[in-house]
This record gives sequence, structure tokens and C-alpha cells, in this order.
Amino acid sequence: MRERDEVLCLGIESSAHTFGVSIASDKRGVLCDVNAVYKPPPGKGIHPREASQHHSHVAPSMVKRAFEQAGVSPAELDAIAYCKGPGLGPCLRVGATVARTLASALNKPLTPVHHAIGHIEIAAYATGAIDPLVVLVSGGHTSIAAFAEGRWRVFGETEDITLGNLIDMFAREIGLPSPAGPAIEELAKKGKNLVDLPYLQKGNDVSYSGLLTAALAKYREGISVEDLAYSLQEVAFAELAEAAERALALLEKRELLLTGGVAANKRLQEMLKVVCEEHDARFYVVPMKYAGDCGAQIAWTGVLAYKSGVVVSVEESFVSPRWRFDEVDVPWRS
Ligand code: AMP
Ligand code: MG
Repeated sequence: MRERDEVLCLGIESSAHTFGVSIASDKRGVLCDVNAVYKPPPGKGIHPREASQHHSHVAPSMVKRAFEQAGVSPAELDAIAYCKGPGLGPCLRVGATVARTLASALNKPLTPVHHAIGHIEIAAYATGAIDPLVVLVSGGHTSIAAFAEGRWRVFGETEDITLGNLIDMFAREIGLPSPAGPAIEELAKKGKNLVDLPYLQKGNDVSYSGLLTAALAKYREGISVEDLAYSLQEVAFAELAEAAERALALLEKRELLLTGGVAANKRLQEMLKVVCEEHDARFYVVPMKYAGDCGAQIAWTGVLAYKSGVVVSVEESFVSPRWRFDEVDVPWRS
């Protein structure tokens, strides 16, 4: 049931492996969050067409379940939000098509949401962070950002592959199924020796592809996967923590917010917590249930965006597979 003067938004996430549907309220927060995750065959990465077929297959039942769990009827919605990008084109198109269909059939406005801004807003919602330095680490992003004058501004990012890619690609080569973050984290706990791997920073950016190549070369030389997982994490996370520390010191932010799928990693959390302690900043981490891709990141950001007048017509509701988040106007934070 809808409360008085409440704004309700249904949001759909479909940019990569996850098809998620959630309904959020400006008064009551996230009311439901149902997700189905496509799992690639062992040894393979995510195949865009197969993932999109997965999404098409699960979409009707996920939408139905979201309404049931939220206790909201379709007519009670104020807006439909979809993930416009970035992500895999075929996957994004499934979510956008479902959103357009709902918006047309129910005669509701359509709100486009940037996936990364979804990761940031759901983390801010869940933790109460107000004006943080954001460290966004996922399959699609490795960025350090702060909000200023209407947009998120990037103060450091990866120059090549993301932290999530680094972990998953390394894992795939040593025979672990993707996504492999938790498995690598477990292996790393058993590592004892810090293997010499390249620590690459350029300005305040990080670089991980050389690190991946070097780690795989060491693997072929017979170095143990435990030591390699441990060393890979130490080097990759330290690069990022160093860049985050510089941004924190420069911007004098009093909060640091860690979000995205890789935020679940305890060792990364530990390193950033130390950085925060040194700089008198509060450390916030997105809760596990909202760390990876989920419908809630789109529904909640959809509520904020819709209330600020961010809507698009069905005819113009394109997807943007390569959309940068520092190009997006964020009127609700201004
Ligand atoms: P997302 O794109 O936000 O869904 O994040 C997915 C990425 O998070 C994948 O690359 C996963 O391997 C990674 N991930 C998930 N859990 C962990 C973890 N505990 N440690 C490191 N990476 C993780
Ligand atoms: Mg993501």
C-alpha cells in the first residue's frame, strides 16, 4: 500500500551478470530487492548474448516477485527507472525494454539511471554518508570520486582494467569460476610470502593490466596460488589506498565511502580504514547485500532522480554502454 505523499519508483538493473528489480520509496526506503545472477560456464567470462538471454528469461517472474514482496500494486508507482549504462549493450537493452514496456503500459514516467551513481547512492542510503570521498570498485569501475558543483568529479581511476576484472581474470586463468572475488579473498588468507609484483601508479591513477600479466607469469613459474592471490590483493589494494589517501588529504573530506562489488573484500576495507584513521575521516562500507549489482541501486537512485525531474520519453530512452559517471548531472545533490 502506498503512503500519503509518498514517491514510489520501480528500478531495473541489467548492465552485466545481474537482472534485478526493486521498488523504493522516498519515505520508506528500499521495499524489496529481487535479483537473479547469470553464471558463465567454468573458465569463461560473461558472454553478452547469453547473459541477455538469461535476463529476458527471468524478467517477468522478477517483476512479479518485486510487486509481491513490496506489497505495491503497479498503479501505485510514480516512476519506472532503468539502468541506462554503462554495461553490456545486449544486457542493458533487456532492462530498458522491460522498463519501457512497463512505463508505456502503466502510463508512468521513465527515469534513466547511471549504474555507477546507483552504486554510490545505494551505499550513501544504507550507511548515512553525506558528502564522502567515494572509492567505487566493481566489475565495471575503479574510481575515486567526490561531488562538486553538480557532478561527481574523478580524482583517480584505473588506466586500464578494473579491480574486479583483475581479480576475475586472474582467477579464470588459475581455473576458478567467475566472479571469483570471495574465492581469491579466501586463497589470499592462506598466502604467506609477498611475491614481487609491479606497483604501477601514474599521477593519481592506478594500473592493473601489467600486474595481471606479471602475476600470471609467476603462476606459470610455479609460485603458489595462495601466495599469488595474497600478493595480488596487497599490491592492487595498496595502489588504490595510496591514491585514495592522496585524494582524501587534498580534498579534506571527513568521510570515505567504499562501494561496488569489490567493497565486500575485508582486506581492502582494512586498508582504507587505516587511511581514514590517519586523516580523521569516518569510514563507511556499503552493506554486503548492496555491494554487488542489484535492482535497489537503480530503484533508490530512481527515486532521487525522478524527484529532481530526471525523466526521458520512451522514444528517447536509449542505452549508453560506455557512459562515464562524471558526465552525469546530479541535481538532487546540488
Ligand atoms: P559488481 O560489478 O559491482 O557486481 O561487482 C562484481 C565484482 O566484485 C566481481 O569482479 C567480483 O569478483 C568482485 N567481488 C565480489 N566479492 C568480492 C570479494 N570478497 N573480494 C574481492 N572482489 C569481490
Ligand atoms: Mg556494478
